[in-house]
Amino acid sequence: MSDSSGIALRVALPVPLPREFDYLPPADAGPVRPDWVGRRVRVPFGRGEQIGIVVGLGPPAPDGPELKSALALLDDAPLLGEELFASLQWLARYTQSPLGEVLALALPGVLRAGQQAPETRAYGWQLTPAGAAAVAGLRAGSRPRRLAERLLLGALSEDTLDIHVADWRAALRALAKRALVERLALPAADAVDEDPHAPTLNDEQAAALATLRAGDGFRTLLLEGVTGSGKTEVYLQAIRDCLRAGKQALVLVPEIGLTPQTLQRFRARLGVPVHAMHSGLADGERARSWIAMARGEARVLVGTRSAIFTPLPEAGLIVIDEEHDGSYKQQDGIRYHARDFALVRARALGIPVLLGSATPALESLHNVLAGRYTHLRLGKRAGDAKPPRVRVLDVRKRLLTHGLSQDVFAAIAACLARGEQALVFKNRRGYAPALLCHDCGWSATCKRCDTPMTVHAGGRTLICHHCGARAAKPPSCPDCASLSLQPQGFGTERLEEALATRFPDAPLIRVDRETTRHRDAIEKHLATLGDRPGILVGTQMLAKGHDLPRLTLVAVVGVDEGLYSADFRAGEKLAQLLIQVAGRAGRANLPGEVLLQTHHPEHPLLLTLLGGGYPAVAALELAQREAAGFPPYEHLALLRAEAPTEEAVQTFLREAKERARPAMPDAIALNGPMPAPMARRAGRARGQLLLACAQRPMLQAALRPWVAGLYELKSARKVRWSLDVDPIDL
Ligand code: ADP
Ligand code: ZN
Ligand code: ZN
Repeated sequence: MSDSSGIALRVALPVPLPREFDYLPPADAGPVRPDWVGRRVRVPFGRGEQIGIVVGLGPPAPDGPELKSALALLDDAPLLGEELFASLQWLARYTQSPLGEVLALALPGVLRAGQQAPETRAYGWQLTPAGAAAVAGLRAGSRPRRLAERLLLGALSEDTLDIHVADWRAALRALAKRALVERLALPAADAVDEDPHAPTLNDEQAAALATLRAGDGFRTLLLEGVTGSGKTEVYLQAIRDCLRAGKQALVLVPEIGLTPQTLQRFRARLGVPVHAMHSGLADGERARSWIAMARGEARVLVGTRSAIFTPLPEAGLIVIDEEHDGSYKQQDGIRYHARDFALVRARALGIPVLLGSATPALESLHNVLAGRYTHLRLGKRAGDAKPPRVRVLDVRKRLLTHGLSQDVFAAIAACLARGEQALVFKNRRGYAPALLCHDCGWSATCKRCDTPMTVHAGGRTLICHHCGARAAKPPSCPDCASLSLQPQGFGTERLEEALATRFPDAPLIRVDRETTRHRDAIEKHLATLGDRPGILVGTQMLAKGHDLPRLTLVAVVGVDEGLYSADFRAGEKLAQLLIQVAGRAGRANLPGEVLLQTHHPEHPLLLTLLGGGYPAVAALELAQREAAGFPPYEHLALLRAEAPTEEAVQTFLREAKERARPAMPDAIALNGPMPAPMARRAGRARGQLLLACAQRPMLQAALRPWVAGLYELKSARKVRWSLDVDPIDL
């Protein structure tokens, strides 16, 4: 043992074990210094190597095994600042996850893989004196000529070239070969100009901004306002304040909210480079945004869930748009909630968090009631837009054609006749959710999931929406050979067919995961409709964003499925979705109308929504949650397990429960083991054990030793298990 310093590196590795690992310092790295903490190291692990982060230094355990040496120290400075490092340690404890896995989650892929931090300085190009003289001699109309002419007006940044000049790299290479252009490093943008496009804020917007400005340090503000009420304008001005003070701003948007239009709007209005972070970016780009924020070169980052792991050395503000959106909760691996983690970071950073939504999460409203958040409201739509009229269509005993009532057809016909656009909303893709034998009752189920298969392709194909299994539609019933196999219920594909039959001359666009695989595709898709009168049919992909000024009619035809669901959040989610979709109608100066087609016009949720809007639904749902002992009044943790056999799942969950009960206080309720809502999926049995407690710290304290013990159970090796703290679906 080369015991020169007697100091071991405590390294967090991205492996599913609840501990860190000790290594001797790399042979050639010089003396160990305290600021090695937070740097990456390459270490031998098992038969291979791993990249980990030094999380501590100390003497090796006296009677431990002989330590291996780390292979290399990869950074010359800590990668994670003090705040981010501490916040991630908190997250690992809170989610009961290995620290190494949490740290790996926070790093962009290329850094996780051990590569060097990428170049982040902004570069631009300018003409050399020889280039300026040569422009007139370049072939007229050629790409190099056109590019050179633009550069005559001044240097252009590579970001600008990317946005505005198609295929500029090839043209630039041609110029560079003749030394007509040169590359230059651009100074970091700092001056914040006045924004010529800023509208004068209305009273409510101004009051919201004034409240934000009046505070100091960490605080949370909930900005509640319907779509189009001007929330984004408030964000923009708050971010400009922050930039003027020399600080950085982080903006989180939901998965489907981050469209090129969103970025464009922020870029156009802020006058500084706006960096992006989302799953559609290449690894190198993500790393560039991350590092640029870490170095303070980038001032504004707009991103989806994982952007919450961006370093903010000069933090000024965190904005979370559509804070109620389910995409902020990661549903596998480390099950964190980006909104909740944002609050933890903001507290550590001493900065405000601005949450925005038309339909705040019940958790957030509860925090308002408890005095923890400041409530700001935007009651009116900005500009001239009026709220849409909402009408419940009672379709009991009424004739339905492919699931659509005659009133819906009539309203669409009238809408088209006015030269406007209609949206038919149904949150179910495919042709029909099930295939049934009319003679014997057989139905097509997925053998690996025990759930009905969805009929697709006009009835020719069956697809399991849970595991992706596909089958051709059988020509006759496999049980009784009858030919009366009938699709049951309606998906977007079937509605599209029905609407095309009824309105053969109207342009018709379907938007769901089948027709639209990429986020940019929605825009292209919608652009084909333009301003023409026409019909849109789609799933919740159509519920947000995408300004459609000529859309005046929204017909929701899947209301009933949400009214009777076992999920304790179903009411909240349905109300949010209805308000969201309704918000699409009548954005500009045309009045909008929303039709809710239902067999349950007297359902309390619908009556409450119509009578008192979202706040009334929220009050109703909160009262029910309190009575039933659900969040936000009780805190939950869900132990999930899956395995090839049900027995393995049951054994593990039973042993897990046996360990919990006497160790945990009685105030923690244990429910289960029970089958998961989908007891089988893709051929694997699934089960769960639910823990509930009114006091979060008590639950947290009890989880820690219990989870550590689960790793030691023999039965744990036969299952895939995970713990979900604050699960959003059970
Ligand atoms: P939200 O984010 O709540 O959906 P936006 O901020 O996008 O609302 O505002 C909706 C529309 O109204 C946008 O076109 C925006 O430019 C415009 N708008 C917002 N605030 C004002 C204002 N005070 N005066 C005029 N137009 C405004
Ligand atoms: Zn049959
Ligand atoms: Zn399946």
